[in-house]
Amino acid sequence: MKLFENHNLKPYNTFGMEVYAGQFLQLEKPDEVSVAIEEYLRQQPYYILGGGSNTLFTRDFDGVIAHPVFEGIEKEEETADRIVLRVAAGEPWENLIQYCIKHELYGIENLTAIPGLVGSAPVQNIGAYGVEVKDTVLKVEGFAIASGKPFVLSNAECQFGYRNSVFKQQLKNDCIITYVWFQLSKRKQFTLSYQGLTKALQERELPLSLRNVSDCVRKIRDSKLPDPKIVGNGGSFFKNPVVPIEQYQELLVQYPDLVAYDAIDGGKKLSAGQLIEKAGWKGKRLGNAGTWKNQALVLVNYGGATPKEVLEVAKNIIQDVNKMFDITLEMEINRI
Ligand SMILES: Cc1cc2nc3c(=O)[nH]c(=O)nc-3n(C[C@H](O)[C@H](O)[C@H](O)COP(=O)(O)OP(=O)(O)OC[C@H]3O[C@@H](n4cnc5c(N)ncnc54)[C@H](O)[C@@H]3O)c2cc1C
Repeated sequence: MKLFENHNLKPYNTFGMEVYAGQFLQLEKPDEVSVAIEEYLRQQPYYILGGGSNTLFTRDFDGVIAHPVFEGIEKEEETADRIVLRVAAGEPWENLIQYCIKHELYGIENLTAIPGLVGSAPVQNIGAYGVEVKDTVLKVEGFAIASGKPFVLSNAECQFGYRNSVFKQQLKNDCIITYVWFQLSKRKQFTLSYQGLTKALQERELPLSLRNVSDCVRKIRDSKLPDPKIVGNGGSFFKNPVVPIEQYQELLVQYPDLVAYDAIDGGKKLSAGQLIEKAGWKGKRLGNAGTWKNQALVLVNYGGATPKEVLEVAKNIIQDVNKMFDITLEMEINRI
């Protein structure tokens, strides 16, 4: 492992916040994890950092940042119609997507181009274009920080929900995920419930293949989302709110074009992006922070923004959306 003192975190968060960590511990091998827990994490405040694409650093971090970077994709099991992969936490998510395309494995192609590392994917149950990672996760391996003991959690034990899991609840900041096991299909199967994706495929007159679906997802994303390498951002800043049916019906009277989906546990899931846009925030800027011109749900660092400026934009958005719709938006991004 490598230890850095007073380390600049700017290259490690896609929002591009220039903050410093007292200590920064790069974990290069899985067997360094338990040593890191014993020798560093128990003694001071800590945070486990993957690719930093769902993290907003709000100030300098007076503690240790543990950053697992060990990579590897291993085939553990193969039958006529499925393959089980054990993937190391530090593997970039996009590498796994490319591996699956190359080996014709179906299940995660709609999650193309989501930034970050594999170890973070189960934490918020990443999702896009009708697919959530929970549908392919078989189990998750890691270490509990309080006890230092290794664990293996089955899919059910991960308690996946919408942008949620046990890693954001009972185990929040209390574990280091070392490996994620995925079960992928060798049989040709696609999830095409998202209209924009089917439309893009039809328009391009492309046959259904893993490569084409993945390329279409990437194209749609590129047209909507800013590239963090150019404009700092953390993807969707807020969760899509779920409201009771009665509230949705009342809102419809005033806003007949409100986008809504049936929420799994009842009620209606609204589009946070649409609410923010209706509240007048699309493409708006306060100082060096604001929202993206093509997608109001994405807060951006227009260059040199401080955490305070980003939080000020978020606070104003929450207030304005609340005033207009009586809905309190909840942040999706992890604030540290
Ligand atoms: C442009 C853009 C587009 C995005 N699009 C999507 C999208 O379509 N769908 C979606 O779901 N998300 C999306 N995101 C959010 C983000 O990419 C995902 O949440 C991703 O999984 C975060 O990975 P990361 O490694 O960067 O996480 P980080 O920000 O480093 O960490 C996220 C959380 O996971 C924890 N964590 C990280 N590694 C470990 C580990 N090894 N063990 C235990 N805990 C760990 C952290 O402590 C933190 O709580 C987008 C972000 C950006 C910037």
